[in-house]
Amino acid sequence: MFENHLPTAELQALDAAHHMHPFTDGDGLAKKGARIITKAKGVWVTDSEGAEILDGMAGLWCVNVGYGREELVEAAARQMRQLPFYNTFFQTSHIPAIQLAKRLAELAPGDLNHVFFNGSGSDSNDTNIRMVRRYWQALEKPEKNVIISRWNGYHGSTMGAASLGGMKGMHAQGGLPIPGVVHIDQPDWWSEGGDLTPEAFGLARARQLEEKILEIGAENVAAFIGEPVQGAGGVIVPPATYWPEIQRICRQYDILLIADEVITGFGRTGNWFGCQTFGITPDIMTVAKGLTSGYIPMGASIVSDRVAAVINGSDEFAHGYTYSGHPVAAAVALENLRLLDEDGIVARVAAETAPYLKAKWEGLAAHPLVGEAKIVGMMGSIALTPNKETRAKFASKSGTVGYICRERCFANNLVMRHVGDRMIISPPLVITPAEIDILIARALKSLDETLVRINAEGLNQSA
Ligand SMILES: *Cc1c(COP(=O)(O)O)cnc(C)c1O
Repeated sequence: MFENHLPTAELQALDAAHHMHPFTDGDGLAKKGARIITKAKGVWVTDSEGAEILDGMAGLWCVNVGYGREELVEAAARQMRQLPFYNTFFQTSHIPAIQLAKRLAELAPGDLNHVFFNGSGSDSNDTNIRMVRRYWQALEKPEKNVIISRWNGYHGSTMGAASLGGMKGMHAQGGLPIPGVVHIDQPDWWSEGGDLTPEAFGLARARQLEEKILEIGAENVAAFIGEPVQGAGGVIVPPATYWPEIQRICRQYDILLIADEVITGFGRTGNWFGCQTFGITPDIMTVAKGLTSGYIPMGASIVSDRVAAVINGSDEFAHGYTYSGHPVAAAVALENLRLLDEDGIVARVAAETAPYLKAKWEGLAAHPLVGEAKIVGMMGSIALTPNKETRAKFASKSGTVGYICRERCFANNLVMRHVGDRMIISPPLVITPAEIDILIARALKSLDETLVRINAEGLNQSA
């Protein structure tokens, strides 16, 4: 069993000494030490102690085809030998970027036929901010530049993307949001729906968009951006009434609609894109994560005929990244899209594994700690609560019980994340029914252990 690496404690000490982690409390990390992952296959990751852990989060929502696909390794190696880098600035191009743009245009719905490549989800959303503002400027409406987004949305960590996001803790660090970004409330019925039915609540939250547009003046609003299903915000599945109403309002006031599909793209919701699951057609889609199944970084903005015609038909769009359309990333993305399609991965999610997971996941709502259990395709959440009937929150600080549950999951070799007191999953799309059974069994065991622990510590109290 001894692997060819330093002992875990030494790796942890070096990690704490030199590695600054994203979204990590450095002090806690130094005391406790990181869990160090050494290898992975399928839906299983292995840590430096040899534990085999079921990865219920597909890394960070991205490893859609699962770990260890040799085809992607080969695609990268082939492309590195042929042409490891060339840029796409100044009227140059290369074959992987051309082929990938064509393939994405085929897969994307509606007239989303044009692709601007970026390095990640965050900088794709920065591209989108600049592109929609450039669009209205080119149409001689430069004052139409405000972007409306949602509290508790997540659109990335750059200055622009974090401004679009509605994470107040992120805004508080670094003077965000940037000017011209405003927020409306999220369609989270469980936490915020009060006495309304989910359907009425979905409409009410969508109509906040209309109220905000009227308050600012439609002549000043460039775009609305939202995730079809909020991911990092806690897998908030909106009521069915929400998205059609958002689209109606955007059309009525001539506001561009941006769907941030960084998580929901490439099969996650059972269709190729989340906007198809919710019956809307955006003007721009943000993609990243599942585009390459996380094997290599890449993002893109997929753009409608209408928007592309204006951007391409005006003076040079003074924007781009050295690695826009990186040939190795594009080659890996193409091969990843081939696997999702020809291996039947997306089709199998829709026909077989998502319905199987849905039945099991919704069964978790019978557990005494679980309020609602929501799932769409391969992304699900459960709300932990001291009282299902009243949809109560815990008296303890939000996330106290969620963190305990996450630690029990880790102890039981399951990666399930917590967002506040919601537990969330987003497994690789290749998870099998037998592996879903393991996921559910470990989740239930962890919920049982959490309940015992919070009862013992007096934490099972309503706020
Ligand atoms: C992860 C995420 C992003 C940011 O992507 P990065 O590649 O981390 O920059 C943007 N939008 C959504 C919806 C995401 O989940």
